[in-house]
Amino acid sequence: MAFTLFGIPVSRGIAIGRAVVLSSRSHDIDHYFIDAGQEQQELQRLLRARDAVLEELQTLRTQMPKDTPAEVAAILDVHIMMLHDSMLTDGIQHWIEERHYNAEWALDTQLKTLTRQFEKMEDEYLRERRADLEQIANLLQNALTGQKYGNQPACAALGASEAGTDPLIMVAHDISPADMLHFKQSVFTGFITDVGGKTSHSAIVARSLGIPALVGSRYASRLIRQDDWIVIDGDAGVVLVDPTPLLLEEYQFRQRQFSIESEKLNRLRHTPAITLDSQDIEILANIEQPQDAVKANEAAVAGIGLFRTEFLFMNRTGSQQQMPDEQEQYLAYKTALEAMPDKPVVIRTIDIGADKPLDYGENNHALNPALGLRAIRWSLSEPDIFLVQLRALLRAAVHGQLHILIPMLTHTWQIRQTLTLLERAREALNSEGIPYGNAKIGAMIEVPAAALILPTFLRYFDFLSVGTNDLIQYTLAIDRADESVAHLFDPLHPAVLRLLADTIAQSHAAGKAVSVCGEMAGDTTMTRLLLGLGLRSFSMHPSQILAVKKEILHSDTQQLAPLAQKVLQAEDTEQLNDAMQALHNA
Ligand code: PEP
Ligand code: MG
Repeated sequence: MAFTLFGIPVSRGIAIGRAVVLSSRSHDIDHYFIDAGQEQQELQRLLRARDAVLEELQTLRTQMPKDTPAEVAAILDVHIMMLHDSMLTDGIQHWIEERHYNAEWALDTQLKTLTRQFEKMEDEYLRERRADLEQIANLLQNALTGQKYGNQPACAALGASEAGTDPLIMVAHDISPADMLHFKQSVFTGFITDVGGKTSHSAIVARSLGIPALVGSRYASRLIRQDDWIVIDGDAGVVLVDPTPLLLEEYQFRQRQFSIESEKLNRLRHTPAITLDSQDIEILANIEQPQDAVKANEAAVAGIGLFRTEFLFMNRTGSQQQMPDEQEQYLAYKTALEAMPDKPVVIRTIDIGADKPLDYGENNHALNPALGLRAIRWSLSEPDIFLVQLRALLRAAVHGQLHILIPMLTHTWQIRQTLTLLERAREALNSEGIPYGNAKIGAMIEVPAAALILPTFLRYFDFLSVGTNDLIQYTLAIDRADESVAHLFDPLHPAVLRLLADTIAQSHAAGKAVSVCGEMAGDTTMTRLLLGLGLRSFSMHPSQILAVKKEILHSDTQQLAPLAQKVLQAEDTEQLNDAMQALHNA
């Protein structure tokens, strides 16, 4: 049956494909204590579920088409073997008998226990079996709640979707930013999540993939079924499920139009970003992984404006020893710098916390993680780990024009501590005779408190970069990852614009470089406003560069400046809309 869902559009374009539904099991697993004396009954329930999954897998194994890749058969064999293994069922039995957990809860607990054990294994092959374990636990959970194997996400994981060669669209309750990174190499042509806001980190990574995406779609992962045909309209924020042939045709037409437009934009790749009144605009790239710098260089950017290094620390296994060591970090930063010869590369120190938790540590459990031990707060609370990063950065600085950027600074003492640690890292390298290079040091302006004491920041730092995602979040008290308050996330709120405009103006007056690296910089509806406010350096995901450049090429900053002031002075929505309209028409 055809129906429509709405969400928050985070990446433009039209995607048409079959749904691959990944439900996040832990959100809807039942947790309750069974009555004493019910243990055997509960255990039997689990064993029946196991037998049902075994039967399904064995049937799938024997009925596999001849041309199925050997790896798929091998994965099925591993899953069948694991289901026979007593380490899973004995453990679950323990939780049921000793703790009186219901079967689903016991299974989930045993999965977590085994996952921890797998993580500690030296052998990489065995460590990687953790994913298989999670997949079979997922199958067991589904069997316990009476779902059939044909509806399982594991089909997708095995590459055995019924969809065959049809394009695939991922539908999930949530996808962590770290998992989203895996999709850079994947087959998905679009994705939809139930939760998240426009500037949640998952959305940001999705945008970097350049595929149509929608977040905050509330019940999508429950309402859309495996292999349903769906259309994502990434401009309108709409998902059409099971569309009529007429609608499908209409969207296929729009999809072709979109690729023609993208082709046209491609011609701007090597055009310098200069406004009609001859202002040179610096376009920089935001990246998450060192190798992204190579692609960014192909996009003819002026440099890297934001390398979010926390992604190097994510998706790793559970103890601090597994964090990237100095050498690994040094090589990662060196890769980024060497990919950008003679161009600035801004590398931000780790910004974990909030919607980018590490797999370990307390920040996972904070009640208000966005206000908790995040970014520089975390780094200063872990000086040994921070020093490793600073040493790696300073060592990498010999390979290019390194700029080190510090996230979420708020207090003057944090600035001093950070600079002291930097000095300590230099001294240590000196005394060990290890070569290191010069780097400019900059601060992110992400907290209103920082924008309000900007002269202090300008005194200490070589450059500033405005993180509008967080500046908006913290100015308006809106959790940027929470779809239920997404409608309140407003880059045009007068308080946000005032902080932004003052930061740009004061930086220029002090002769210091200032850039915007939040999502606002890559939003074409904001380009003219930012130019009018005096911004000359924009950092964004490479997928947004050409569209922003097109806006720049058609803009006259002298004409835009007074119009931008009108936007700043707007007293109500009507005045604001009129002022924005005037900017766009200029
Ligand atoms: C920002 O806050 O605008 C920013 C660029 O940092 P992040 O999105 O990584 O928090
Ligand atoms: Mg930020």
